[in-house]
Amino acid sequence: MVRRISRREFIRVCTGAAAGVSLLTSLEPMILDTLALAAERKPPVIWLQGAGCTGCSVSLLNSVSVSIEKVLLDVISLRYHPTVMAGAGHQALDALEEAAAAHEGEFFLVVEGGVPTAGGGVYCTIGEKHGKEVTFYDALKQYGNKAAAIIAAGSCASFGGIPGAAPNPTGTVGVWEVIKKTPVINIGCCPMHPEDFLGTLVHVLKYGEIPDLDEYNRPKMFFPETIHIGCPRCTYFSQGIFAQNPGDEGCLAFVGCKGMVARAQCHVRQWNNQTNWCIAAGAPCQACSEPGFPDDCSPLYGRYRLSE
Ligand code: SF4
Ligand code: SF4
Repeated sequence: MVRRISRREFIRVCTGAAAGVSLLTSLEPMILDTLALAAERKPPVIWLQGAGCTGCSVSLLNSVSVSIEKVLLDVISLRYHPTVMAGAGHQALDALEEAAAAHEGEFFLVVEGGVPTAGGGVYCTIGEKHGKEVTFYDALKQYGNKAAAIIAAGSCASFGGIPGAAPNPTGTVGVWEVIKKTPVINIGCCPMHPEDFLGTLVHVLKYGEIPDLDEYNRPKMFFPETIHIGCPRCTYFSQGIFAQNPGDEGCLAFVGCKGMVARAQCHVRQWNNQTNWCIAAGAPCQACSEPGFPDDCSPLYGRYRLSE
């Protein structure tokens, strides 16, 4: 039996999931019911990979709360993913072209990795067609303009990330700087949090609309406030107790914490299936959720400049 849940309730759960509890656990079995309903329409998903390390795919595939193979292969009808699909070479590119042509205007495009634009995009190719290299830049323009919506998965696809760091000789940028016609949802963080991605996907499938986005096109329900506001070390900050080295007791602001500018929910849902997260492990937050990561976050372990 399908449990009805209003959009308001869905957003409330996404924004306020209890600390240490998986969002997907909170929403199950509603998510599986939702995905099963969506499966009737089998919304096709095409997943392109550009300049990145595949860490966002790994982050998602590590998710254990929901059977991820079921979601990716049976439910959302993943038609192209260079890492997990069995086909390769021409076979894979043919599958990509066929899926995009058959579902023009309907498919969802997930992009992982930044977009190298220098030299016509020559620094990143996804294969060969008729003896010519197909650049990721051209593939993104071709398929991005035919998609119903694009989910930019992770920091690189959203804002350029580490491949776009100074001096950026490849001219790498985020997807939204290349594609203007199709809505782009940015799922920041390096890598993306699997629950931010799956929660966004469920929202799009279930309610048929893009969730409310902030000024950087991130879903507000997953990037609602700064890490600092909910940080377990905030009492140390108020009392003026500062760690001198990563791992010390105290607020980590003097050893590079950027939690005051990082909007994310790491303090609520943690990482690796609720195992731990940066600040709880004694490491300063590097604001990997933000468009300025990593250039504006350097030096990574220096005293945070706003506190000087
Ligand atoms: S500066 Fe960082 S460690 Fe200190 S309270 Fe804020 S988020 Fe926590
Ligand atoms: S705590 Fe900061 S650096 Fe760590 S994952 Fe979250 S936003 Fe990124």
